[in-house]
Amino acid sequence: MHASRRENSPDRLTAARGRVPCPRAPFGAYGDEIVYTGHGGRDPNTGQQVADQQFIRGNAALARNKVAGLPVRVIRGAQLDSPYAPEQGYRYDGLYYVDEYWEETGKSGFKVWRYRLVRNDSVHRPPLKAGQEPALPPERRRTTTMRVVRDTEMSRRVKEIYDYACQVCGVRLETRAGAYAEGAHIKPLGAPHHGPDTEGNILCLCPNHHVLMDNGAITLSDDCRVLGLSGEPELKVKHELRLEYIQYHREHFGVLTGA
Ligand SMILES: [Zn+2]
Repeated sequence: MHASRRENSPDRLTAARGRVPCPRAPFGAYGDEIVYTGHGGRDPNTGQQVADQQFIRGNAALARNKVAGLPVRVIRGAQLDSPYAPEQGYRYDGLYYVDEYWEETGKSGFKVWRYRLVRNDSVHRPPLKAGQEPALPPERRRTTTMRVVRDTEMSRRVKEIYDYACQVCGVRLETRAGAYAEGAHIKPLGAPHHGPDTEGNILCLCPNHHVLMDNGAITLSDDCRVLGLSGEPELKVKHELRLEYIQYHREHFGVLTGA
């Protein structure tokens, strides 16, 4: 599809609302989950990574898609080194959501941005008859949130320790169904981070501070100060946190803090 202007790109990502040009970034072999590498910092002739990737343009736009809950279109090309590559040409593979993004040092020694994309099930919705409109107006559909909060037995235990009060701001949300807080894994669960579901890796946070933490707007210092908030307040700590997970978060998710 529309492949004529980018014959050299093994794959492309196109934001559902506007294009995100991402040449040469390899897809991981996850099928419904893709780990996608951002763009920039590559030598145009050799394709080698020769500089850090910046959090600008397409890289920033993909992160924005996560925060806004907007999908990206995934198009795989035949040149791609992946079991999911089409035999030839390009293939539209449906809508994916940006589940998570982080920065890490690639094999080249330079910083790269990575994005985990998760396939959207609604691509299997039945097609509408010609001339028919969807039942929900577009404004309504755009408000759909894609935030999935993974609650585990262990995160419930941590929330009990804090009586559902946020470790950053102390807010305790009361709902008709009881108190509400979120268990935030400092080093995320799942590939490729493989953070553990243990008390030392879980914080009890309000939804606001959970979102800020997941998106690198706040992170923690080694002595549990909240970086990214004015005055860098102390995290309220009543259970033992593992330093290695805090450092992992700061390194991979907290890099924009103070930049
Ligand atoms: Zn909070």
